[in-house]
Amino acid sequence: QKRNPGQPEFVQAVQEVAQDIYDFIADKEEYHHYQILRRIAEPDRIVSFRVCWEDDNHNIRVQRGWRVQNNNAIGPYKGGIRFHPSVTESVLKFLAFEQTFKNALTGLPMGGGKGGANFNPKGKSDHEVMRFCQSFMTELYRHVGADVDVPAGDIGVGGREIGYMFGQYKRITNQFTGVLTGKGLEYGGSLIRTEATGYGAVYFLAAMLRGRGLNLEGRRAVISGSGNVATHAAEKVVQLGGKVLTLSDSEGFIHDPDGIDQEKIDWVKAHKTRRRGRISKYVEAFPRATFHPNLPPWGVPCDVALPCATQNELLGMDARALVSNGCIAVAEGANMPTNLEGVHVFKEARILFAPGKAANAGGVAVSGLEMSQNSERRAWKEAELQQLLLDIMEGIHARCLEHGRQPDGHVDYVKGANIAGFKKVADAMLAFGVV
Ligand code: NDP
Repeated sequence: QKRNPGQPEFVQAVQEVAQDIYDFIADKEEYHHYQILRRIAEPDRIVSFRVCWEDDNHNIRVQRGWRVQNNNAIGPYKGGIRFHPSVTESVLKFLAFEQTFKNALTGLPMGGGKGGANFNPKGKSDHEVMRFCQSFMTELYRHVGADVDVPAGDIGVGGREIGYMFGQYKRITNQFTGVLTGKGLEYGGSLIRTEATGYGAVYFLAAMLRGRGLNLEGRRAVISGSGNVATHAAEKVVQLGGKVLTLSDSEGFIHDPDGIDQEKIDWVKAHKTRRRGRISKYVEAFPRATFHPNLPPWGVPCDVALPCATQNELLGMDARALVSNGCIAVAEGANMPTNLEGVHVFKEARILFAPGKAANAGGVAVSGLEMSQNSERRAWKEAELQQLLLDIMEGIHARCLEHGRQPDGHVDYVKGANIAGFKKVADAMLAFGVV
């Protein structure tokens, strides 16, 4: 805390990892001597810059942009760009730190980074978003590159924004390289990238359930968010026979007792992404559903829960409500959606709990595959990518088991993910000596 004043999200993320790592490194002198954890918790560099743009009323607006390059021990920096008014250096440092372990867990050669701006895309016209993205890239281009740092999308940055940024990068540098992932299929994007995070989270959930001889068939799922991750998680739950009861946005949640099937998910995708609407409108299209303003969905009884909106959206009291209502498994589609108290509640209740760095790694994994396809200048087939995504999620699950199984057989997935991710990065850093 003293080292990082005013950065609560970052301190929280480091504390959580440190707690798990201390036991593991206790008898490993090299990791202590070379200060590996402290080095991973100090970003390689942070670039902070002015993003100046003109709105449709000809007002000049000034925003702040960042790129946090946390660690490139095992590959080029890799991590999304977030446009949201809540973006601060602390939030991006926490995300870049987490990303380092997540990327290592995928088994692919990617380091950890994250970037963004305190820009609110909500209510902005296409032209305003375009001008902002172009201005953002006009500075960012000098810090990124296909072998240096490869950003992707995150909250507020989807296909449209990636297109504007890629176009600007190409224009400035006169190079067509895989500098961003999450690109459109017409210009180097990968099939399955859009679906990968949500699908991957549900594959991970299914793998955890399988360990207890269970599956998703007939299970009631409570999901938060209604963006990319939430809608694709919902889609995969439905495909695997589960029943999705809720979705949400920053104004509240909807509860559909009939279940949110594929047709309704398609409506949400069109409404939220293409029309940029509010989830509250769901009840007008599907009147048996109810809207609950300013509340998260965790009080709705369920078997499994997938927080897929944002950080710290599931607090201690929410975790207690889930557990007492009989929830048996939680898989984090978002990054750090459960606060520390909530994580302790899940751990104490010994329910299956998958942290984001393991459960939501499917997106960055397919981004890694997009990088490979760009290097080869070819596009792999959908079936091949689907299988690779499934294999990667199973691989992450296996790594968590290896380091997270407790003497009584219970699996601490948080610990397993932290140790497996740390070990890979730490061993690479040891190989480089003191740099
Ligand atoms: P989107 O922008 O597509 O969707 C975000 C969703 O979360 C929206 O429904 C949004 O509602 C909601 N939301 C945002 N802030 C809040 C809040 N304070 N309270 C309640 N709901 C909120 O983002 P993604 O789906 O891409 O990302 C969701 C999470 O998943 C993030 O934590 C992200 O870092 C993580 N993630 C995403 C990956 C990806 O591939 N996209 C990969 C790995 C992790 P509203 O419309 O009201 O803003």
